[in-house]
Amino acid sequence: MSCPVIILVEPQLVENIGMTARAMMNCALTELRIVNPRDPWPLGDVHHQRMMAASSGADDILQNAKLYATLPEALADLNYIYATAARTHDMTNRILTPRTALPEMAERIQGGQKVGVMFGRERTGLYNDEIAFANAKITIPLNPAFSSLNLAQAVLLVGYEWYQTQNNTPGSQLHMGHTRPATHEEYLYFYGRLEKALDERGFFVAEDMRPTMTRSLQNMLQRAEMTEQEVRTWHGVLSALIGQRRAPDAGENGDR
Ligand code: SAH
Repeated sequence: MSCPVIILVEPQLVENIGMTARAMMNCALTELRIVNPRDPWPLGDVHHQRMMAASSGADDILQNAKLYATLPEALADLNYIYATAARTHDMTNRILTPRTALPEMAERIQGGQKVGVMFGRERTGLYNDEIAFANAKITIPLNPAFSSLNLAQAVLLVGYEWYQTQNNTPGSQLHMGHTRPATHEEYLYFYGRLEKALDERGFFVAEDMRPTMTRSLQNMLQRAEMTEQEVRTWHGVLSALIGQRRAPDAGENGDR
């Protein structure tokens, strides 16, 4: 799938261009356009090296970056344009957070539109007549008393929300290496051995308490979300405590 075009308008510091490329690559954004940078391109050796160092290996993005003399040229082929700004300007404009804007962008792109996001100069941001080129504005909600971000960091936060629209990483997952979650049968088998061993040693003093104790122990075991390996370890613990080397009939599930 294609992705939003990142447009840097008159960036002043080559380090920020390099860090923008890095942020873009982190977020699987590929297309960078640079409008009239302060240091003329092609960059001299020193500036070039500083940019490359800041990009930390995101060379592809810089090599494929397109240079434009004016903003209208950089926007010419786009169907929908977003301007980013920390400040509110005295204009009627739709203002979105990245969290809202990026899913919307993804839908537009899926619908075949070419979409771009403009970022302004480090010192003065985007001018009003540049923001006027945009169909909508994105403001990253931050501390109102200190909301202006470094240019590349602003690109990163927008890029981050882009990546979230393309990514299905579960919010929480149990990393288990080479094992797997225990099955209900494995729990029950272990619980059966445990209950039998406890029973033989007089744990259930009052028979009428047995159902409550059973439920409570089973509940604890279930909540532990044990892996198959962990259940085997508990079989081993139990066997050691009751003086038995191997769980009866446990086969592969026996203690290790
Ligand atoms: N001093 C400038 C800030 C420039 S920061 C000003 O007051 O406008 C460089 C660029 O980073 C901005 O032009 C904008 O594109 C982006 N940026 C910085 N902070 C942002 C924020 N909170 N929300 C959206 N974009 C932001």
